[in-house]
Amino acid sequence: MGSLDENLPLPSIHGFKPLDLGDLREQVHQTVDFIMDYYKNVESFPVLPSVQPGYLRGLLPATPSDKPTTFDAILRDLRRAILPGLTHWTSPNFFAYFPATLSSAALAGDLLASAFNPVAFNWLSSPAATELESLVLDWLAHLLRLPSRFLSSSASTAAHGGGVLHTTTSEAILCTLVAAREAALRRCGGGAAAISRLVAYGSDQTHSTFFKACRIAGFDPAHVRSVPTRSESEFSLEPASLRAAMAADAAAGLVPAYVCATVGTTSSTAVDPVGPISEVAAEFGAWVHVDAAYAGSACVCPEFRQYLDGVERADSVSFSPHKWLLACLDCTCLWVRDTRLLTGPLGTDPEYLKNGPSESGSVVDLKDLQVGVGRRFRALKLWMVIRTYGVANLRAHIRSDVQMAQGFERMVRLDPRFEVVVPRRFALVCFRLRPRGEMGEAWADKENRRLLEMINESGRVYITHTVVGGKYVLRFAVGSTLTEERHVAGAWELITKKADELLGAENNPARNI
Ligand SMILES: *Cc1c(COP(=O)(O)O)cnc(C)c1O
Repeated sequence: MGSLDENLPLPSIHGFKPLDLGDLREQVHQTVDFIMDYYKNVESFPVLPSVQPGYLRGLLPATPSDKPTTFDAILRDLRRAILPGLTHWTSPNFFAYFPATLSSAALAGDLLASAFNPVAFNWLSSPAATELESLVLDWLAHLLRLPSRFLSSSASTAAHGGGVLHTTTSEAILCTLVAAREAALRRCGGGAAAISRLVAYGSDQTHSTFFKACRIAGFDPAHVRSVPTRSESEFSLEPASLRAAMAADAAAGLVPAYVCATVGTTSSTAVDPVGPISEVAAEFGAWVHVDAAYAGSACVCPEFRQYLDGVERADSVSFSPHKWLLACLDCTCLWVRDTRLLTGPLGTDPEYLKNGPSESGSVVDLKDLQVGVGRRFRALKLWMVIRTYGVANLRAHIRSDVQMAQGFERMVRLDPRFEVVVPRRFALVCFRLRPRGEMGEAWADKENRRLLEMINESGRVYITHTVVGGKYVLRFAVGSTLTEERHVAGAWELITKKADELLGAENNPARNI
């Protein structure tokens, strides 16, 4: 709680300078030192904190002080109250969910973006922010070998493609869904009431945010399909199943409007075949969005680009460099083949934002391609990441994570107590203790749950789970930026030690050699 020596005297109203350059230098330098210390030590912190809900209220005052507090005291509180309650996403022992990558270039870019603080809703409100965004999205489109229809710089005057940076994939899905909704309503000519006839399609592996976006966009929940996938096809959306669902809906007088295909599903990195799915969708005039939130980053490497094959037939595609391409949260790239389909339903034109360049039609106002109005200068960190490291290093970064995941996969395969449940494609390994005894699957579900608890309670690593094909599975996602091979090896050692404890060491064949 605040003690007297933490408080500074109240300044006179004119003496208060929140952007005093001396303070700025000192506070930012102190902050950088704090960050350096944090990264030096993060490896030794429990990855998952053991605090109880509500823990913070006991550590910080319930009401703010009238008087200013010294920066030192604030940093002490940060160390004392905040760090112990952080889940350390930057820990090299973080293997949960999909990781969130960052880099010194991204941190510097984000700090500069905060320093300039342009709100950048339209071109005039910060021309460089809009133009750098369009340039950097074209760069990334080249890296991913996206077809020219998605480039803003496309030579053809008939082309209206382009990209925009969103906060998250959720925003990209919502905005493209709204665009598809309007396009479908125009096509079926039933007026706004026809929204009750529109249908959107994902698979049972599609991210939950798609189903949420459908609710926000006004789709009838009874008309949002979760097409079942099968383990035989590695949990990818099968074009024949999609066609059957779409044909049944069309025959019932409904209007197929939107298909969400995923390249790298969240559960198990399954890949929906974009080309064949787009062909099916085209039969019914539906919009195809490709959600490559995680795996899109890998497609900067030629050996992974095949997973985007067919994207030239899609209407939109998004991926999140904050998940795997060294840009920090938040940063999602969305490309659409025709930006007018977004600006139609999402555009606004209030008097107080009117200006010459916007009216001339020669510029793009990015507020019209997103949910909000104000927007961060996110292009800066992305541009700085790409320039600082160069494409060769971006590829090396992806390959190094994939190799570490391969190493982990090999170790799992060498231990007969364990199995790899679905084929590894990127840097995620889905594995579990093999079923045993008469109880088989029920035994495996129970023991794998318990094993995960024991692993995470140790605080030494953090991994998460999923259920795929009815099986409770542990997910080991390599990709936290500080992770090295020794951390992966250490994690496997911990996992096998916990398995020994759980099953009895006498059941570990490796011990009997
Ligand atoms: C992470 C993820 C999402 C959700 O992303 P947000 O950016 O948090 O909205 C959606 N789809 C896939 C495939 C993901 O992996």
